[in-house]
Amino acid sequence: MYTMSSDDFTMHTSDCDAVGGGMPVSSLPDEVTSLDDLDCECWGAFDSFDEIE
Ligand SMILES: [Zn+2]
Repeated sequence: MYTMSSDDFTMHTSDCDAVGGGMPVSSLPDEVTSLDDLDCECWGAFDSFDEIE
């Protein structure tokens, strides 16, 4: 469900176009506690952090 960009280690959804050849991960890192921590527009599909979990 989540993908880590190999370029800058930001987190993305698995179907994000911006991440390219990123590495799939099973969960978001502990440092990510809100949508504000996720910069990419791919997270715009979610209204709240609870929806991602
Ligand atoms: Zn993204």
